[in-house]
Amino acid sequence: MKEKINSFRKLFLVILVTLFSSGIFAQSQPYVILISFDAFRWDYSNRNITPNIESFAENGVNAQSLKPVFPSKTFPNHISIITGMYPEHHGIIFNDFYNTFTGSHYKLSDSVEVRDSRWYKGEAFWETAKHQGIITASYFWPGSDINMEYRRPNYYYHYSHDTPYKQRINGVIDWLKLPYNKRPHFITLYFELTDDIGHRYGPNSPQIDTAIASLDSTFGSLLNSLRNIQMIDSVNIILVSDHGMTDVSGDRIINIEEMLKGYDVKYSNYGPVMMIQPEEDDIEKVYSLLKNNENHYKVYKKDGIPSYYHFSENPFIYKILVVADLGWSAILNRDLKWYKQGSTGGNHGYDNNTLDMHGTFIASGPLFKEHYKTGMINCLDIYPLLCKIFNVYPNANIDGRLDRIKFILKEN
Ligand SMILES: [Zn+2]
Repeated sequence: MKEKINSFRKLFLVILVTLFSSGIFAQSQPYVILISFDAFRWDYSNRNITPNIESFAENGVNAQSLKPVFPSKTFPNHISIITGMYPEHHGIIFNDFYNTFTGSHYKLSDSVEVRDSRWYKGEAFWETAKHQGIITASYFWPGSDINMEYRRPNYYYHYSHDTPYKQRINGVIDWLKLPYNKRPHFITLYFELTDDIGHRYGPNSPQIDTAIASLDSTFGSLLNSLRNIQMIDSVNIILVSDHGMTDVSGDRIINIEEMLKGYDVKYSNYGPVMMIQPEEDDIEKVYSLLKNNENHYKVYKKDGIPSYYHFSENPFIYKILVVADLGWSAILNRDLKWYKQGSTGGNHGYDNNTLDMHGTFIASGPLFKEHYKTGMINCLDIYPLLCKIFNVYPNANIDGRLDRIKFILKEN
């Protein structure tokens, strides 16, 4: 009799182990794919050219817009989405800026600098999750391939603009087909097409409509692949964009360098936003000169930057900030030729309260409310939402707020 009980117990254990390793208890940890369509403006899915995104939005949560952080640029916003922090706190204040103490230069074309973990002061969600037992992966996201293993997702790729979109989707599907104990539950995915085309032709061009439709097909093919591996009903998808886009023109330029002729100043960035660092003794004079000529732009001293920008508590922000009016460009002499060539397409980086700078937020899957339309979502709140979804403790120093976004989840 005792032997019989023992062999039953053994059989029971074998069944249990088999069930666990086959992933039958997979419900205990959710799946989330966070997708970014770069510069996919809030209204791009309202143009009747995105059938896949529209039916996805109809089934889940569809926000009117996603409010970016200032400056409404790519790296600051992707890092804000993934850390829940303002750029002044997570450290990536622009796509291009200097460490004013050491002189080192963060810029997207320098992969050594972009992968240097010392620039990144925030904690990305994959880092938070990985340290609390969630397997994470990234098929591209700013900051996902930094040079410090314990701050990276478990699986990642070095960014390459030329990686075909089909290959990115197949990479995600391959991860989801891994044995359960190796399979990631949080995955990011990134596509840049609408940013490339929006810059070149503007947000109201026929070319951008073609790009929007093409990304919609890409999205449809991801959904089909999830259907083929029978995971379409278990995966939660959050589709976001980092910012919007607006038309710019060679007729709407402000030549800052011309105005400051005779002063020895350092410039950083141009177009929608420019930082200016005069010699210490010239700060008041340079500020007054720009203030007295304030036309189609706003100028601020660092300690007078409006608090709603949350853009002053960082040592690498210069002493003077110029923010151009929507559609205008603050430039230097060297930029004149390019801006005067005629059609200059689109740009972003402006005041994050202007609707043209707003992006997209659509979420659907077993955890999200269905057929639910809502207003503006703040991009800082996505990190605490992810922490709630995966039941992990958030980093303590975040600016995002769960109470502003948790209503999009189904009750418990
Ligand atoms: Zn972008």
